[in-house]
Amino acid sequence: MGFWWRPLAVLAAVLLVAAIFWAASGANATLLFLTGIQAFVMLRRLWQEYRLSRWLEHPDEVSPPDATGTWGDIFYRLEKLQRRQHANRNQLTSSLERFEHAAMAVPDGMVILNRSEQIEWCNPASRQFLGLDPERDRGQFVRYLLRQANFLEFLDAADYSRCLVCKSPINREISLSLQLVPFGESQKLLVARDITDLERADVMRRDFIANVSHELRTPLTVVGGFVETLADNPQLPEIDARRYFNLMLDHTRRMQRLLDDLLTLSRLESAEHGLNDEPVNVPDLLLTLESEAQSLSRGRHTITLQLDNPLWVKGSVREIHSALGNLISNAVRYTPENGTINLSWSERNGEAVFAVTDTGEGIAAEYIPRLTERFYRVDHSRSRETGGTGLGLAIVKHVLTRHGARLEVKSIPGKGSTFAAVFPQSRVIKAADGDNVIKFPAREQAAG
Ligand code: ADP
Repeated sequence: MGFWWRPLAVLAAVLLVAAIFWAASGANATLLFLTGIQAFVMLRRLWQEYRLSRWLEHPDEVSPPDATGTWGDIFYRLEKLQRRQHANRNQLTSSLERFEHAAMAVPDGMVILNRSEQIEWCNPASRQFLGLDPERDRGQFVRYLLRQANFLEFLDAADYSRCLVCKSPINREISLSLQLVPFGESQKLLVARDITDLERADVMRRDFIANVSHELRTPLTVVGGFVETLADNPQLPEIDARRYFNLMLDHTRRMQRLLDDLLTLSRLESAEHGLNDEPVNVPDLLLTLESEAQSLSRGRHTITLQLDNPLWVKGSVREIHSALGNLISNAVRYTPENGTINLSWSERNGEAVFAVTDTGEGIAAEYIPRLTERFYRVDHSRSRETGGTGLGLAIVKHVLTRHGARLEVKSIPGKGSTFAAVFPQSRVIKAADGDNVIKFPAREQAAG
């Protein structure tokens, strides 16, 4: 009703004036008056229609027409409609922009294909993994750009539950898992995920299982063989039986050591196993390790300990004992009789350094980077002869990494090696003046 009352009121007023004219001046004057009114109304309407059409043609440049009466009402409603559409369009644009930014930032390669398998859109990661260019390759047939036989088969099969594992066409080092996802009206999304690390971990896992099986097979075969021999020959001379038992004991111990090292590694690797941050009296620990080294060497080597600094470190005493112990035991095992082994604990540029220097067989430079790999051995027979599991330095590396420390290896073949565990400044606890807790030298503490 709001729209009608004003035009009806104007019409009523015109009719009233016309009736007054009729009574006062007759029919001709009334007709003239009504014709004048009609012409005015028509011209006004034409003017407003012109303004409206101009505005509709350039709604963003021309300001909306301003009028009173019914035209004013119409313009006001149209302007409101236009503002609402503007707001909706802005909202849609910003949602689209946000979606596009997110798709650009996704680390997986994403390619949208139309029903003819032409590229409609692809994100920057698809350049890195598939060599596609978001600008240049728009509209290209994906089959002409990625032509490997297994990929074409994969496209033809259109089996959306399957993933294709393949090498990146532009970098053979990258392993990809490709998946097709149908969407919209016969469009497809091709997703390329980088699974290089997963593949590497899988290869490592398989190698690890193969290595463990291989390591266990020899001692188990030996023990099994002796048990059979003993079972089949109850009358075996005691001297032979004793020899067999001793060999069985050696191999059983070897398996035991292997299992102990495997358990240590798995404990170190498990994420839940947090690091104990206790103050570790390293000088004291080194005294214990020195005597352990003496007993392992059984007088075959000259072992010295040089404690230059009373530094302690923050960490797990058990883990640090195991890591430094492994380095020392390697020095003893790989140094021939009458060789010298020096243990030292000192400060270097604020870092704490434990070094073990031996006059052993040394290691050629090309083997050094691989020493901390599990089961890696430079000299297999020497490692086995001396009871090595091939896991010692892998354990050392894990422990040091957990402590933010690093392993430095220097070696000259035929002359000897130095293995150094370097603890960062942040882990070092210095003996403060007047501090009674951290004493130096620690030798007295150990003796006491
Ligand atoms: P293993 O139990 O065989 O000693 P490790 O992981 O402790 O295993 O060491 C890996 C390899 O590094 C050893 O097999 C050995 O060849 C080499 N190695 C380690 N320490 C020394 C050393 N002090 N001198 C010479 N070679 C060493």
